[in-house]
Amino acid sequence: MERLDRFMARANAAYYATHDPFKDFTTAPEISQVFGEILGAWAAVTWDLIGRPDPVLLVEAGPGRGTLMADALRAVALVAPAFHAAAQLHLIESSPRLRSIQAERLPGATWHDRFATVPDGSLLLLANEFLDALPIRQFVQRNSRWFERFVANGQFVEAATVPPCSDHDGEGIREINEPALDLARSLGQRFTHYAGAALFLDYGPEHSGFGDTLQAIREASPADPLATPGSADITAHVDFASFAAVARHAGATTQGPVPQGKFLARLGLFQRTDRLARGQPGERAVALIDAAQRLAEPNRMGRLFKALAVCHPGCPPLPGFESA
Ligand code: SAH
Repeated sequence: MERLDRFMARANAAYYATHDPFKDFTTAPEISQVFGEILGAWAAVTWDLIGRPDPVLLVEAGPGRGTLMADALRAVALVAPAFHAAAQLHLIESSPRLRSIQAERLPGATWHDRFATVPDGSLLLLANEFLDALPIRQFVQRNSRWFERFVANGQFVEAATVPPCSDHDGEGIREINEPALDLARSLGQRFTHYAGAALFLDYGPEHSGFGDTLQAIREASPADPLATPGSADITAHVDFASFAAVARHAGATTQGPVPQGKFLARLGLFQRTDRLARGQPGERAVALIDAAQRLAEPNRMGRLFKALAVCHPGCPPLPGFESA
């Protein structure tokens, strides 16, 4: 019998060590180069707004193939050379396999297994589809009693436990992502000492609640998360409200969450895409525009995915969050 978060951590470590995850699913930076470019511009404008700290740590959590950061740095070198010169690149990545792919595209970076070893200082952090991959615990409330879910022989088993949270309002499954909340706390503490901002893009609801969101993808199709650990990518929806509350409790301010479609449109997704598409052969231009629509349209990735910023106290409204 294994606690669900331990099972999920073990299964995902095995999966990321042995598979090319991007054969099984596609992420925003792999869909359009404009995604990384405008997040690079977001970081450069944010750096300016928070007083141009120099040096500044530019951190990405879970960089995958390194596509987002490679696109961001290319854009930043052109439009914000002072930020490019001030930035020191740090990557949080647990998979040795993905680290070696990242090293080819992002020479000069420093790698970390976790946020705790990222050096002190002002920082800007980007994370796309990172929090959803972190291991969750699941608790069940039934007839006012709480149980925790464990895994044994590919099945869930339950064990009685104490209430995991003060929210007793409802029945069903409550999910808790402890490593995500630890990161929120660390960022909150960091931003009481140093200027900076962290941007998270991921999928999940706006409000915390009851529900089982554990899911697995094997060979591009939905699969049973508990069967054959290591052969599928296991994720869960991100509880943005709890994440933001912990960051604020530790001393940070937060902005958002804003639906990804709205956020990217405010950052100029369509203007940049149009400029890029102009002068491209017809088929390529159509593909670029479709990619932007896929990221932004509400019934595709535009609404389920959200953007949340964590920032130091007194932080001005950041790009994309102006009227959030
Ligand atoms: N951001 C990328 C990749 C998303 S997949 C993109 O958008 O394409 C999740 C990434 O987080 C992978 O790089 C994976 O190896 C990394 N990851 C997952 N769990 C992690 C953990 N516990 N610590 C550090 N990195 C982790």
